[in-house]
Amino acid sequence: MQDTPLPEKTGVLVVGAGQAGIAMSAHLGAAGIPHLVLERARIAERWRSERWDSLVANGPAWHDRFPGMEFSCPPEAFPGKEEVADYMAAFAGKIGAPVRCGVEVTSLTRLKDRPGFRAETSAGVVEADYVVAATGPFQRPVIPQIVPESAGIVQMHSTGYRNPDQLPEGAVLVVGAGSSGSQIADELNRAGRKVYLSVGPHERPPRAYRGRDFVWWLGVLNKWDMEAVPGADHVTIAVSGAYGGRTMDFRRLAGEGIVLTGRTESFRGGVLQFAPDLAGNIARGDAYYLALLDEADAFAARNGLTLPEEPAARVIGPDPDCVAHPLRELDLKAANVTSIIWATGFAFDFGWLKIDSFDERGAPLHQRGAAREPGVYFLGLPWQTRRGSSFIWGVWYDAKYVADHIEKQRNYLHYTPASEGNA
Ligand SMILES: Cc1cc2nc3c(=O)[nH]c(=O)nc-3n(C[C@H](O)[C@H](O)[C@H](O)COP(=O)(O)OP(=O)(O)OC[C@H]3O[C@@H](n4cnc5c(N)ncnc54)[C@H](O)[C@@H]3O)c2cc1C
Repeated sequence: MQDTPLPEKTGVLVVGAGQAGIAMSAHLGAAGIPHLVLERARIAERWRSERWDSLVANGPAWHDRFPGMEFSCPPEAFPGKEEVADYMAAFAGKIGAPVRCGVEVTSLTRLKDRPGFRAETSAGVVEADYVVAATGPFQRPVIPQIVPESAGIVQMHSTGYRNPDQLPEGAVLVVGAGSSGSQIADELNRAGRKVYLSVGPHERPPRAYRGRDFVWWLGVLNKWDMEAVPGADHVTIAVSGAYGGRTMDFRRLAGEGIVLTGRTESFRGGVLQFAPDLAGNIARGDAYYLALLDEADAFAARNGLTLPEEPAARVIGPDPDCVAHPLRELDLKAANVTSIIWATGFAFDFGWLKIDSFDERGAPLHQRGAAREPGVYFLGLPWQTRRGSSFIWGVWYDAKYVADHIEKQRNYLHYTPASEGNA
């Protein structure tokens, strides 16, 4: 299919062949709805080329997968990033997903005077009755404009980080302590670098508790299915499958040599300023952790689950010195900080999607994925319908909803009253 021209028309055009695009294809295929998936690079490209070398999945293989196909590694293992990408490619092959790689959709507009859409792509024009934008929850890396290029520091986003050898000699500041920032800081510290980690608000579940991984606890406690609270700030989750999977404990990281700081706020004359929020952020992370243990214990008691008790999990060590007496400033030159890794999140980039369904910040306006422009859908957005929406196992169910929605819409469109000549 690779070298053949694109069809002039398809039923549903799915843009992007990450996990969302593949899940979408699986459900459309099962419903017998003709479709085409266009991917500008390779299947699951972001897992291959936008993540660091040692990254493993944050959830175990039994959980972070689609129904109907298992990983080849043991179920309790955390697959590496290439294994995740290979899994997606294999899944696409298994379901016979009509994916065209190396084709970028550059513009998508509504057709005039008839239903449907026109996609301009790097390989020509395709028309489609429906469109699903499955271009990722994390599209454009965001680096806050704090440290100017003239500071002479190597700066990169976490999507650009590969491994410790990539960085110049010297200390490293990692900004952001979600899953990416905390894992990268941990890796650099283990590689013998002096590391400063700027910690903002976060949630940090235990990796496992009473013999069950946290993904299981969040599942049984209905937390993956939690809907977004309107207006609530997104709080990053600090979790890791690295080194066999360990709880992300900032006190432990400090004990191992990482200097924790508050949020990175500003830069003047070679000196960085940090917010006075470190102790509060650590305390709120601990409170989240302990509340989850409470909920887990209550669930186990209510359901008569005989899971092994784990009182040691409740022991929170004393605040390390860097939390008790936090740095408010860091002179980068004096501290020999030669690089900064910004693990500071992402923004949307829907410039190609020329429809009226975005707010003033460029965020999609939609209901459970259905855009304000009928016929267009989003898939894989963070909190699209619930917490699990942007994760491998969660997008599967949103894709099913979108496929059902498209099927209903097709039925409406194909309906003709008997009075017009068709039964
Ligand atoms: C560091 C990191 C670790 C993560 N770990 C896990 C984990 O362990 N478990 C888990 O469940 N989730 C994890 N996630 C979250 C989520 O699973 C991933 O972000 C995943 O890549 C999202 O899949 P997606 O298909 O929605 O989007 P993406 O993977 O971003 O796929 C979108 C695809 O669209 C393509 N594309 C974009 N624009 C166009 C265009 N105009 N035309 C054609 N193609 C286009 C891109 O090339 C890309 O391949 C992680 C995320 C990050 C950042």
